[in-house]
Amino acid sequence: MTEKKIPKDGLRTAMDDLKRVFRVSVPEANRIIYDFHREMVRGLSCKKSSLRMLPAYVDRPTGGEKGKFIALDLGGTNLRALEFELKGFGRSGKPKIMKFTLSKEEMDADSSRFFDFIAKSLKLFLKKEKIRDASALGFTFSFPVRQSGIKTGILVCWTKGFNVKGVIGRDVVGLLTKALIRNRIRGIDITALVNDTVGTLAAKAYSDRNCDVGIILGTGTNACYIEPVNNIIKIKSYGRYSSSNMVVNVEWGNFNKLKRTVFDDILDKDSANPAEQILEKMVSGMYLGELARIVLLHFNERGLLFSPTSRKILSKKGIFKTDHMSGIEGDSLYGLKTIDRLLNSLGIIGSTLSDRTAVKNICSIISERASRITAACTAAIITRMDPDLSRMHTIAIDGTLYEKHPNFSKNMRQCLIELLKGRASRVRISLAKDASGKGAAIIAAVAMKGAWRGAKICKTTES
Ligand code: ADP
Ligand code: MG
Repeated sequence: MTEKKIPKDGLRTAMDDLKRVFRVSVPEANRIIYDFHREMVRGLSCKKSSLRMLPAYVDRPTGGEKGKFIALDLGGTNLRALEFELKGFGRSGKPKIMKFTLSKEEMDADSSRFFDFIAKSLKLFLKKEKIRDASALGFTFSFPVRQSGIKTGILVCWTKGFNVKGVIGRDVVGLLTKALIRNRIRGIDITALVNDTVGTLAAKAYSDRNCDVGIILGTGTNACYIEPVNNIIKIKSYGRYSSSNMVVNVEWGNFNKLKRTVFDDILDKDSANPAEQILEKMVSGMYLGELARIVLLHFNERGLLFSPTSRKILSKKGIFKTDHMSGIEGDSLYGLKTIDRLLNSLGIIGSTLSDRTAVKNICSIISERASRITAACTAAIITRMDPDLSRMHTIAIDGTLYEKHPNFSKNMRQCLIELLKGRASRVRISLAKDASGKGAAIIAAVAMKGAWRGAKICKTTES
């Protein structure tokens, strides 16, 4: 088949249009900040909000916690088991880590099979590392959980494509405890249930007193920060919680006051959770590649990209991954040879240089929007805590998207500078690798000092 000659200005106009609809200008980012602040306040009271603002029943660690602790970190793609030694004075040992990959079957299983998988993985880890002593365990569970204490939490809904039956509305610590008993694992006491954002914040804050925000940019995306307890109006009584500050899990993946494109609507409609997790679908690793595929297909259907024979490949949901975007955007080789190789591996043969340049531009437009939305929401959280940026703030970020994407961190920093101007120098962003798991071990240690139970919280309705 001969390739249709593409009018150059057709592609240029389409690319300009794409840039325009995906652009997050400074006024738009400021509007995001305004809406984010409003949704935060509503979420902290009992009002309807797309931000769930879930209290974590824990404050930052002091850095003085000591001992060996076990953690289980359930992300969106992997389960990690680890042992972590805290030495006090903000110092810690090198963690022992074992990684297990979750299969689609586990993500769609019933509750007992799912928790048995976690328990069996822990058993393997304990055996490998010859851990026989009784241990406190922190459980990082990175899904929206409504907690009423540090070691209890009810699953609100699944995200990131999970659909394990019989867990929503139940206490995940109770379900894991039962699985430990079923699998004859003795001597493990689950002392803390921790969101991955909270673990990330705790891990960094253990050695850095300025750390007051934790962000995840991996399969999914979310953030937490420090709020004075008096502002968490929806907590009606604190039980035995005695600290004046508490970490709040924002669940920002569900923020929905964002300008969307037709491509976002297509992705959302075809997702496992339509109309939910709107920000996550514009920002996180699980969705960016798919969003790029939808745009590439659209360009192909308009005769602006590749030959028509590529359409069948581009129509396959999930074929294009976020790590492909990293490879594509990082290609600075003459003739964009890496992109050519990558397209070939997907079955797209014979691309022209113009095709490859267009693919690179499309990926950049999509990932830049993601990093600017992240920057705006980060600025919203910082200015909620400290409107004038009168002190230093360290933002701890964990997640492979932030770590591996060639431009994400740079674009996020650039947008923060545009929004906060000179005061942006008071914001330090720190990659906190594997922090979500380490932090769960730290919070298990914090929780040993006193378990908070019996808090009462009014039910919030999410929009
Ligand atoms: P989790 O979210 O499960 O805790 P990670 O933080 O490791 O785990 O994130 C995994 C996700 O990161 C993958 O699902 C994928 O979307 C994304 N990812 C993996 N490799 C890359 C890469 N090279 N560039 C950008 N994103 C990537
Ligand atoms: Mg993770």
